[in-house]
Amino acid sequence: EGKGVLNNRISEYILTNLSQCGIKTHLVKRLNMREQLIRKAEIFPIEFIVRNIATGSLSKRLDISEGTVLEKPLLEYCYKKDELNDPLISKDHIFAFGWATENEIKEIDKTTLRINDLLMGMFRGIGIKLVDFKIEFGKAWNKETEQKEILLADEISPDTCRLWDIKTEKKLDKDRFRKDLGNIIQAYQEVARRLGIVPETTNVSEVNFKKPTSINIKKR
Ligand code: UDP
Repeated sequence: EGKGVLNNRISEYILTNLSQCGIKTHLVKRLNMREQLIRKAEIFPIEFIVRNIATGSLSKRLDISEGTVLEKPLLEYCYKKDELNDPLISKDHIFAFGWATENEIKEIDKTTLRINDLLMGMFRGIGIKLVDFKIEFGKAWNKETEQKEILLADEISPDTCRLWDIKTEKKLDKDRFRKDLGNIIQAYQEVARRLGIVPETTNVSEVNFKKPTSINIKKR
């Protein structure tokens, strides 16, 4: 409970910072605790995964020890198809089936690695290692240039990144759920707190979502 509210704030914070560094994103603005206004984009059917430290499916697939620091960021592509469990694909699969062009992938690869640099710095500054993450991109019409442009079109949050505390290696991400480690909300709150995001107090604003049963609503 409350994870979506935290992710909404964390993702807004991260995408706004990326945008200030010249990354084009779909985010227009956060509307309220649970909703964002975003530009409509035609999504490439590809998940772009960046890894700085081996864990998760990489460790399983290739028997690489969990926690191995990779010499340079590893970029993987997965085909977005739930029925097939989003299989790992190569660039040639992308071109063979027309999921994106060579120029589009060149641009997205460059942006993805730049995002990784920016995120690694952002998290290192608050004592967190960015282990890996997943992002998606889409194409949207730019009225000014009268051309389609490629945008980062995804959330970036502890649901889509692996975040480990630098000193203790404590997991501050969705692996707390995947591995049944408990304290998920506390971990997400910790990330928000370290980023300097003060979440809105939920009990007051939630009143707007429910029909009041009594007019005597006291602000707490
Ligand atoms: N990831 C994601 N959505 C997906 C698949 C992966 O956000 O559908 C993220 C995941 O949280 C991790 C990274 O991408 O930060 C790499 O995930 P991995 O391939 O290790 O898969 P998993 O272990 O989650 O199955």
